[in-house]
Amino acid sequence: MVLDDLGSSLRDSLGQLSGQSRVTEEDVEDIVKEIQRSLLQADVEVSLVMDLSDSIKERALEEESPAGTSARDHVLSIVYEEMVDLVGDSTEIPLENQTILLAGLQGSGKTTTSAKMAWWFAKKGLRPAIVQTDTFRPGAYDQAKEMASRAEVDFYGDPDEEDPVEIARKGLEETDEADVHIVDTAGRHALEDDLIAEIEEIERAVEPDRNLLVLDAAIGQGAKDQARQFDDSIGIDGVAITKLDGTAKGGGALTAVNETDSSIAFLGTGEEVRDIERFEPSGFISRLLG
Ligand code: GDP
Repeated sequence: MVLDDLGSSLRDSLGQLSGQSRVTEEDVEDIVKEIQRSLLQADVEVSLVMDLSDSIKERALEEESPAGTSARDHVLSIVYEEMVDLVGDSTEIPLENQTILLAGLQGSGKTTTSAKMAWWFAKKGLRPAIVQTDTFRPGAYDQAKEMASRAEVDFYGDPDEEDPVEIARKGLEETDEADVHIVDTAGRHALEDDLIAEIEEIERAVEPDRNLLVLDAAIGQGAKDQARQFDDSIGIDGVAITKLDGTAKGGGALTAVNETDSSIAFLGTGEEVRDIERFEPSGFISRLLG
């Protein structure tokens, strides 16, 4: 991490350490305060921010800076290491045959993410297929089909079939030439029992290799209940954060990651199929602190 990756106030606080060989408790307090401000603004949960603050304070005051390292660079590296610990590594997504199930509330960006992920896998040389099982939201079928054609990937859906489990089962059969199956599911406005029962049935039918929870970057602390419930029902292996091209920084998703003991897999940065990035800690950290 370099100073440029940080927000201007934090950069100023760290800049003041320039030339100092030791940091004082007051210096550390100032730096931690700036970090807290940025992270809380980015929707990171208070308890996570407090844990991070304690670790940074403790290490910055107790650890000697290695010979030849300035106090500023030493604190900077502690901040970075602790931030990496907070945001975690990227969810492992092997480039091999697999089935991925997407879960999340309506409007979180599941359908868009399924097409983006399919495009991403196609770019990596695999043959992906999207299986669209959302029979709840009007227009989901047309939207998914259109996006699949833009991503130039295989697609299965059936606007005349009402049973999503049947669509899922048939979808896997009909697209058996594909290497990677991405199964999009229906969301609801809130977590209702029928949504959970439905996704559990789909999960049993398709036996996915991994389940990803799709979260809008603006979710804030609402992520907690969702993450808990989806994790209890199907198990969550990773998170995809959408709409990071907006003003929200996505810190709420860290609550979901923490709650499900998982990690972040993908970031969505726009409405087009190409607007997807693999999660990578340093860029996300700069965004949170920026
Ligand atoms: P679903 O109900 O979970 O399937 O959500 P959709 O995929 O239909 O997405 C809901 C809305 O969010 C649509 O208008 C999408 O175009 C939009 N959307 C999804 N992902 C992104 C993103 O990364 N950036 C932006 N700006 N819009 C997005």
